[in-house]
Amino acid sequence: MKFPVDSFKGIETPFYYYDVELLENTIATVRNEAARYGNFDVHYAIKANFNPRLLEIIAKAGLGADCVSGGEVAAALKAGVPASKIVFAGVGKTDKEIAQALDAGIFCFNAESVPELEAIEALAAERGVVAQVALRINPNVGAHTHSNITTGLAENKFGINYELLDEVIDIIEGMEHISLVGMHFHIGSQILVMDDFIALCGRINELQELLFETRGLVLPHINVGGGLGVRYDAPDRYPVPDFDLYFATYANNLKLYPGQRVHFELGRSIVAQCGGLVTRVTYVKHGGCKQFVIVDAGMNDLIRPALYDAYHRIENLTSSKPDEVYDVVGPVCESSDVFCRDRKIPATERGDILVMRTAGAYGEAMAFGYNCRALPKAVLSTDIL
Ligand SMILES: *Cc1c(COP(=O)(O)O)cnc(C)c1O
Repeated sequence: MKFPVDSFKGIETPFYYYDVELLENTIATVRNEAARYGNFDVHYAIKANFNPRLLEIIAKAGLGADCVSGGEVAAALKAGVPASKIVFAGVGKTDKEIAQALDAGIFCFNAESVPELEAIEALAAERGVVAQVALRINPNVGAHTHSNITTGLAENKFGINYELLDEVIDIIEGMEHISLVGMHFHIGSQILVMDDFIALCGRINELQELLFETRGLVLPHINVGGGLGVRYDAPDRYPVPDFDLYFATYANNLKLYPGQRVHFELGRSIVAQCGGLVTRVTYVKHGGCKQFVIVDAGMNDLIRPALYDAYHRIENLTSSKPDEVYDVVGPVCESSDVFCRDRKIPATERGDILVMRTAGAYGEAMAFGYNCRALPKAVLSTDIL
């Protein structure tokens, strides 16, 4: 992806820059790779980036939506995703959110507990409708990723313990307004090694066998969640993730029954590489033992380094001088407002324009207004090229 720094003149920093062509290429690759199997459906996980203009591009391309709040269900509908392609997960869906999703007629709730099932049953009964539900199962499969983005271990708050599945299905059988249509899983995020997905397939196969042998039950939908990672270290070498390998891993390791469909909820892998956070250097400060590049973007604009120890490549778009070693930091009054420590980048001075790469996912979406800072704006390549 290219950053047209000359066209950035006059745009107030910091801002997110999105390369629409790369986004479109990525979506086309996902769709083509998934289409090879005939029974794979892809839902974009909106929480990765809910910028309405990006959502519209994604909806237009025909992807479904994976939502984790009523706000996201509304955003998906507004962007043009049909209700029939919307799934709704989350451990704490409120009555208001459930009612909203029922009224919209979404495809499926990914229910995470028995009390939630009871709430859906009651609200569906009030409306005289039957809610389609997939059970989110906690498979106790570890994703070898940062502990703050692991979701599929027994210790995590997500899903229903897989050992309780049978009991929960008994409960659902007594509910008239819930139709159990599937099982749902999501083991974590930024997963680059396929072993974790293979382990998940193994668990799904076990559970499927159990349901079939003990109940003769085959559920039509298996939702394996998302989590495919991206190469933060080499965005230009790997601009589009290896969706071919990802889908093939599921195709080769999931044992499906005839007629079953597989659903994917991909967030990061669709939007991460097409976005960069563009920021201007306010000061370069020579400390006692360090040099600090102080930029006008802060942790409120991109919290991933502070929250997950995340690595973003940082490039200086206006200097090609020999490298020096810097800590790149923001202006926010927190010691954790640091984008990187002891990083080599070209010698930098006040006024230079830097970009933090691979910031399209969990970047703009997680921005907040701490220190009365304005939320970062978004500039699409199609706005300026
Ligand atoms: C966050 C989330 C996703 C998307 O995860 P990515 O790592 O961005 O692909 C999918 N499903 C659920 C339930 C999620 O919470």
